[in-house]
Amino acid sequence: MKEEIKACNNLLELIGNTPLVKLNRISAGLKGNFYAKVEAFNPGHSTKDRIALHIIEEAERKGILKPGDTIIETTSGNTGFSIAMVSVIKGYECILAVSSKSSKDKIDMLRAMGAKVFVCPANVSADDSRSYYSVAKRLHEEMKGSVYINQYFNELNVDAHYKTTGPEIWEQTNGKITHLIACSGTGGTISGTARFLKEMNPNIQILGVDAYGSVLKKYHETREFDSSEIYPYRIEGLGKNLIPTATDFDVIDQFMKVSDEESAHTARELAKVEGLFVGYTSGAAFQAAKQYSEEGVFNENSNVVLIFPDHGSRYMSKVFSDDWMSEQGFFDNVNLQAENHVEY
Ligand code: PMP
Repeated sequence: MKEEIKACNNLLELIGNTPLVKLNRISAGLKGNFYAKVEAFNPGHSTKDRIALHIIEEAERKGILKPGDTIIETTSGNTGFSIAMVSVIKGYECILAVSSKSSKDKIDMLRAMGAKVFVCPANVSADDSRSYYSVAKRLHEEMKGSVYINQYFNELNVDAHYKTTGPEIWEQTNGKITHLIACSGTGGTISGTARFLKEMNPNIQILGVDAYGSVLKKYHETREFDSSEIYPYRIEGLGKNLIPTATDFDVIDQFMKVSDEESAHTARELAKVEGLFVGYTSGAAFQAAKQYSEEGVFNENSNVVLIFPDHGSRYMSKVFSDDWMSEQGFFDNVNLQAENHVEY
């Protein structure tokens, strides 16, 4: 008899269907049950694999893309990596216009995945012809058959989560989810997942996470853009200094702001206490859970699902570097270093 080879045809088949993991120890003392949707299990190690695959396959369905065509985006982060990965597998060129602020490691990682990286000056305004927005737009206009992912303003970003993340959580919790906690950047994850879950049960509470220095929470409460909310902060991928159309503010019940410092410590705590080596915004999501809990949002019967967007390995020179933590002043009130690091 012929032996069956148990292999997937390519990595794209492994996108989505990420596990839901119960948080047993870090949630001690909080009312309710807490579960993490661990998106680092995607082959590109983040939730952005879902949107890269969905947007590219929609373009194929519409006949916009054919082999050898080009996919363009403006990010050095998770989305860039996912687009580069999907492009390699499907045979497209990938161009990423990134800011000169991006770390060398990130740029090297994208180049390792075959992407062509255009490094554009960080210190120019978005409408300057040299900005990474302008460069991406120009390349897209000049290249027939190219696709510009444009994740902040692309409804297909939301649709990817409506079609995958939402149904997976509904099924994994057997419909027993009571609260969703998700960080908002483009807003695609929280909006798409929430839209599906609210359709299944409108009582599910959708709890957003925003950064201090970002406009999202204030906009949600007032529907006004308040530029005085904007100042620099360190968490990447969370919050925004503009209002993305990929965020559906109507399906979000409330937002909570979290600090850089507490989110960083919580990310480190997730590794030490749960063995979950996840990124900075996963720390932010659990930090928000603690704060929502302090406000009495949960009870003993709550089933809270948190989205953990990516893997800790992307933050080795930041949150998981003791030197970086010290430089930020994040160890000023804790003696973590002494506990952790013993020199003989
Ligand atoms: N966490 C990380 C690490 C991210 O890169 C992003 C995306 N910007 C988010 C959270 C937020 O996800 P979304 O863009 O879907 O709101």
